[in-house]
Amino acid sequence: MSISTIQLDRAIGVVLASAAGDALGSQYEFGPSLPDDFEPQFGTGSFGHGVGEWTDDTSMAIPILNALADGQELLDPGTQAWIVGTWIDWARTAKDVGSQTRAVFAGIGAPVTADAALQSARALHEQFGRSGGNGSLMRTGPLALGYLERSPAKLVEAAGAIARLTHWEDDNADACTLWCLAIRHAILTGELDMRAQVAELPAERRARWMALIDEALSPGAHPRDFREQNGWVVRAFQGALAAVAGAESLTDALYRAVRGGHDTDTVAAIAGSLAGAVFGGSAAPLAWQRRVHGWPGYRASDLARKAVLAVRGGRPDSEGWPTAEQQPTYPRSDFLAQHPHDAGVWIGSLAALDRLPTEVDAVVSLCRVGTAQVPTACESVQVWLIDEDGKNPNLDFVLEEAAAVIATLRAEGRTVFLHCAEGRSRTAAIATLYGARHRGVEFERAWWDVASALPGFAPQQFLRDSVRRLAMP
Ligand SMILES: [Mg+2]
Repeated sequence: MSISTIQLDRAIGVVLASAAGDALGSQYEFGPSLPDDFEPQFGTGSFGHGVGEWTDDTSMAIPILNALADGQELLDPGTQAWIVGTWIDWARTAKDVGSQTRAVFAGIGAPVTADAALQSARALHEQFGRSGGNGSLMRTGPLALGYLERSPAKLVEAAGAIARLTHWEDDNADACTLWCLAIRHAILTGELDMRAQVAELPAERRARWMALIDEALSPGAHPRDFREQNGWVVRAFQGALAAVAGAESLTDALYRAVRGGHDTDTVAAIAGSLAGAVFGGSAAPLAWQRRVHGWPGYRASDLARKAVLAVRGGRPDSEGWPTAEQQPTYPRSDFLAQHPHDAGVWIGSLAALDRLPTEVDAVVSLCRVGTAQVPTACESVQVWLIDEDGKNPNLDFVLEEAAAVIATLRAEGRTVFLHCAEGRSRTAAIATLYGARHRGVEFERAWWDVASALPGFAPQQFLRDSVRRLAMP
């Protein structure tokens, strides 16, 4: 089995949407439930996190993601020790660490080992008789990415093992197992099916989980229904599931999760990991990509790169993507031209990144770019748009977002370079849509103006059809 571009987009969605949900919920943490017409915004978090900055939920997911992106085996005790050690280092300066997690870390001496973590988690559980905080589930999403091409049984084993490093009680292992299996299923098929995953749990616990899932999937269920005690892994699971199951879009899933109230960042982080798998990273507004950031100095593009590596077992593809500094350019497609309707927008091909006008300070890429290919002085916005009919499940949304982000950057006073690999098809389509939707130019005229300006103009028919439809008033 090999992973398709559509599946890869959904895998990126797991990490990106979880981080976005975490950052979006950050300022509403511990707050009341919010009404359906309330639109959550990025803001300064309850623990002082910056606008768009993720919190502990994503920060604790990142060592799991990085271990997979480095090709490590999560069931290896050495890998688990590395993850725990990285968490402990992070916690020394973190703005917020869950109380149960912090107590477990305090019980781990040197050297840090997986066994020491397990013993500390178990001791804490035995001291209080429970250890069901939602801190295991909030970080579990990336784990599924390492098991897309392996048996679900291996995923079950790993999800439970990583949960127990800090959270001993069975509810954690069960919730993480179900969540990861549902993510895996959604990435592979595009479908949400939590009930089907229950068969992988120990027989004696299946009936309870099926009833909990039925409650979260009942008609009209909303994360607000699970607000009380949503710091408990079981209620956080139910709230996040209700958020995704009742959502019409990726954005809607995160908004629903935040509107549930109380542990908003965590429920939205959990919901985001599953919703991203269902809807895909290309369903994420580009505003999220521009805003979302956090420990250890990552941005959305770093999360996407790590997600791809995690899926690929740590190996870049034959062109070095996503780790190579440069992606191959096409010497016969070295195009750079001014947009016919906006002198502050340049259009062209990947090769033109080497000779941009000095005033360009933002680059909108419609193709893969190397990690050092966009000049460092430029903001880099990367759009997931495949130049092949049938490969873009969120095509209209992506086209509209790409045109709109150019308008947003221009409104911010930026000079933009819009490009794809060859500057023939995707660039032509988005440049036309930008002219029609944001510069008031009638579609046919916009189309021919861009054709005259762009030497390689040769858009795919499916892009022309979609842009024409979207451009019509
Ligand atoms: Mg948090």
